[in-house]
Amino acid sequence: MNRHVPRRIVIVGGGLAGHTAATTLRAEGYDGELILVSDEPCPPYDRPPLSKELLAGTVDDTTLLTAHDIEVRTGSRALRLFPDAVESTTGTYSFDGLVIATGSSPIRLADPSPRVHELRTGFDALRLREALRTASSVAVVGAGWIGNEVATRAAALNLEVTVIDAASAPLARAMPAPLAEHFVPWYADRGIDLRLGAPVDGVDERGVRLADGGRVDADLVVMGVGARPATGWLHGSGVPVAPDGAVEADATLRAGPGSVYAAGDAVRWPSSLFGDRLRVEHWDHAAASGRTAARNLLGLGEPYDPVPYFWSEQLGHRIQYVGHHRPADTFVLRGDPTGRGPWAALWFQGPRLRAALSIDDPRTTRDARRLIAGRVPLSADRAADPDVRLNETARTPFR
Ligand SMILES: Cc1cc2nc3c(=O)[nH]c(=O)nc-3n(C[C@H](O)[C@H](O)[C@H](O)COP(=O)(O)OP(=O)(O)OC[C@H]3O[C@@H](n4cnc5c(N)ncnc54)[C@H](O)[C@@H]3O)c2cc1C
Repeated sequence: MNRHVPRRIVIVGGGLAGHTAATTLRAEGYDGELILVSDEPCPPYDRPPLSKELLAGTVDDTTLLTAHDIEVRTGSRALRLFPDAVESTTGTYSFDGLVIATGSSPIRLADPSPRVHELRTGFDALRLREALRTASSVAVVGAGWIGNEVATRAAALNLEVTVIDAASAPLARAMPAPLAEHFVPWYADRGIDLRLGAPVDGVDERGVRLADGGRVDADLVVMGVGARPATGWLHGSGVPVAPDGAVEADATLRAGPGSVYAAGDAVRWPSSLFGDRLRVEHWDHAAASGRTAARNLLGLGEPYDPVPYFWSEQLGHRIQYVGHHRPADTFVLRGDPTGRGPWAALWFQGPRLRAALSIDDPRTTRDARRLIAGRVPLSADRAADPDVRLNETARTPFR
């Protein structure tokens, strides 16, 4: 176990992971120097409300409260990492402990402009909210989590909304097509035109050009085609970065020689629970990994092995996903996806539940999370019965 406690810790990235690492260090009694370097112009804030409450206008500010004694350097972009210092646009910060928490940044098919929007920052969200006030039509590129949340809001404003995706089903990166097909009617229910199997060729002054020669003209184009770890500044530093940009950490989130840890969207870690290396873009993981990175900087040597958890609000439904599944896992439906009530999909490897996706069914999500964490064998047949509580389908007594 690493018992060396650094005297000067630098956290790069002022999102939830960086914020949680900083507040955890102080909560754990760390009394050395603590500097948080962020390229945004404001202190850390929360992102999930940006595409929900903030876009809807019920919230204006999602700032996270910061503990005392944290030097927050806003407007400071890390450019390079040396073994004992971070070079940034506002100066060089030496350290003997580091947390890499630079999150991810949106993949761009076109640069933002008055017509073209993306949604990653508070600034993006306020700009989009303002633009939605005067637009009459919106084209959303990408039927993923964030694209669908924007489409939900635009439809609530009675705008003409088109959602375009190259895949043959919505949410294609998150779930198998036979499952995602059950989401298709939700778009029509809200008056949204869903165009699947429609790769985009580009964006111009009228709207979106499709690869097959077609067009979707719209006042606004919102890009929601995914994000990539924001780790270019680590190039040549010795920190292992995979071709997809993820920082490759060990089971304690340590990511390089010395006291270097990584957290949040940017990190991939070996999960002993799932037997895979995982990288997820989830709020819950950003907080939990920020906490573990901080505690391990203080020498606690704790393994990081959570059950990943994600929620979203899509087209009038609360969707929750817990766990991690592989394409080869068998999935069973629990409840009727064609009805109006709650339902869920469960993924199994043998009798072991590996993941659950629930629609308007938080109790099944809660049960699934505990069953997955406890590696409890279930009867898949009984688990498919929505009249039996998931907890009660354990093959051995489980409370
Ligand atoms: C609109 C939106 C809605 C979401 N909704 C949900 C949801 O409903 N449920 C859910 O589970 N998750 C949701 N997420 C995902 C969740 O918010 C992220 O997983 C989480 O914010 C990741 O936290 P992070 O700290 O790792 O990264 P980030 O939040 O991306 O923070 C990283 C910070 O580092 C900064 N940075 C990057 N590069 C540098 C550099 N070189 N130098 C200095 N600073 C740098 C960035 O500007 C940013 O401030 C949503 C995300 C977005 C964008």
